[in-house]
Amino acid sequence: MRNLKGRLDLCSINTATLGHREPLSRTIDRIARAGFGGIAPWRHEVEKANVTEIARQIKALDLTVTGYCRSTYLPAATHAQFIANIDDNKAALRDAATLGARCFVMVVGGLPEGSRDLSGARAQVFDGIAELLESAREFGIPLALEPLHPMYAADRAVLNTLAQALDICDALDPQRSGFLGVAVDAYHCWWDPALQASIAAAGRADRILAYHVCDWLRDTRDMLLDRGMMGDGVVDLPAMRESVEGAGYDGLVEVEIFSKENWWRRDPDEVLRICAERLQTIC
Ligand code: ZN
Repeated sequence: MRNLKGRLDLCSINTATLGHREPLSRTIDRIARAGFGGIAPWRHEVEKANVTEIARQIKALDLTVTGYCRSTYLPAATHAQFIANIDDNKAALRDAATLGARCFVMVVGGLPEGSRDLSGARAQVFDGIAELLESAREFGIPLALEPLHPMYAADRAVLNTLAQALDICDALDPQRSGFLGVAVDAYHCWWDPALQASIAAAGRADRILAYHVCDWLRDTRDMLLDRGMMGDGVVDLPAMRESVEGAGYDGLVEVEIFSKENWWRRDPDEVLRICAERLQTIC
């Protein structure tokens, strides 16, 4: 496993960690100034700005874009809406290419409003990824399927384990083209009894495109916005990174913390300083 001490160049900050409180250009400057090697911006920030200028700024500061967040949810109540969702993702892939992102992060979506058809939603996800894979190749941007913790199956992602994501990858991309893989997020995957086996399988197939860290707080108060800083929760982060890197992942370690009541209220430079410290000592 790599030693992250003195290697913030191997570390990336997902801009959600700072709570989206400032224009993206200022966030980019902060992250670069703090010494990090990478950034993962969100679409709503980029789309509000000028993607070409943002790309120029990121390049000038020599930051790696470890992922572009994130896909429009795929499952839909009508075929027209499903097509619209696909088109929306194709437009985002074009921006991901402009940004030079390592991958486009796919949070695939939950059940359409009013639906109880879980297998139907999963079928739509499969079909949607199949279609987007064509565009991913065209734009040269790999799709990183991110399984979400099952507590989000209703509203955010019917893709819930790494094994499930890898099955989709193997079915749609048996040749392992490099354009379809997974994002391993400690928050979503830590509980999975098959975690080690799935990470190893993902590595063997060369499909680990991103690694996201934060921590699971034992007394989590909010399903979405109460993620912990690394070291404050129950996840064995060194063991997890050892698995991920042992499986061959050599990309950056990305911090992604949604924390409305705590970290999003703190001074952004302080948050970055603590992220840097925890990455080098806890992760
Ligand atoms: Zn993530």
